Amino acid sequence: MTISPEQPVFRFAPSPNGLLHLGHALSAILNHDMAASANGRFLLRIEDIDRTRCRPELEQAIFDDLGWLGLSWQHPVRRQSEHLDLYTEILRRLRAMGVVYPSIMTRGEIRAAVAAAEAEGSAWPRDPDGTPLYPGRERDLSLGEQAALIAGDRPFAWRLDVAKAIDLVPRPLTWQEAGAGPAGETGQIPADPASWGDVILSRSDAPSSYHLSVVVDDALQGVTHVVRGRDLYHATSVHRLLQRLLDLPEPVYHHHRLILGPDGRKLSKSSKDTGIAAFRAAGKTPADIREMVL
Ligand code: GLU
Repeated sequence: MTISPEQPVFRFAPSPNGLLHLGHALSAILNHDMAASANGRFLLRIEDIDRTRCRPELEQAIFDDLGWLGLSWQHPVRRQSEHLDLYTEILRRLRAMGVVYPSIMTRGEIRAAVAAAEAEGSAWPRDPDGTPLYPGRERDLSLGEQAALIAGDRPFAWRLDVAKAIDLVPRPLTWQEAGAGPAGETGQIPADPASWGDVILSRSDAPSSYHLSVVVDDALQGVTHVVRGRDLYHATSVHRLLQRLLDLPEPVYHHHRLILGPDGRKLSKSSKDTGIAAFRAAGKTPADIREMVL
């Protein structure tokens, strides 16, 4: 990959909601090694916004696994849960721009609305992960109606009005792919944020979503190279839109292959047999893990 003249910054950004597996090992090792060979910095960021799923002992397990693999990273480690005020502030900026709106439909209500529409015969559009796009209409509410909704009892989520956001940013909206997408895409990639519909950026009970905090933190930490699994390739479209909206610098993206389990599916944090700790307990060495993933 091309390295810019200023000191490059790489990061591995796991969520402590499960044990790291071989896919994480690949991501962490690639980031670490690319930073080392480019005389760059390697950061570790703990993405623990979702307080219901993240646990301190799993964060410690991340440090233990990465340390055992022989990786070292710069300190202090950024923990997203310690910066919630910042994400709230950024959301306030997006509200002032008029590109977010409060939405109240629950998952069940969304499912029912989509099923009802599909019963009429037309397929409902789905995002790149296969989830139906948000069918709610709250984006058309007046500011007064929105205020009433925010003041009400129902939990709500702040969604990006993606059409409005796209209208506000300079085009073409693209990103530089130094790795490869699912179909081998590389080079300058056209971003298609509309394919995700009105994504959630924040909830009344959690001030940031993955999309918002990842973009804010990459910029704040001066990340120049985002090296991560191909499962996040399409999410880059949303990230580029948010970067343009918030006037943030554009990193180079490098999506790497995913490590598949024996069933041919992407590894999950719950498949304990492919966890780094399980291999360690079974007597494998860090060199064995490198051999397995690189
Ligand atoms: N926290 C995300 C995850 O664990 C990764 C974020 C990223 O690399 O952009 O899947």
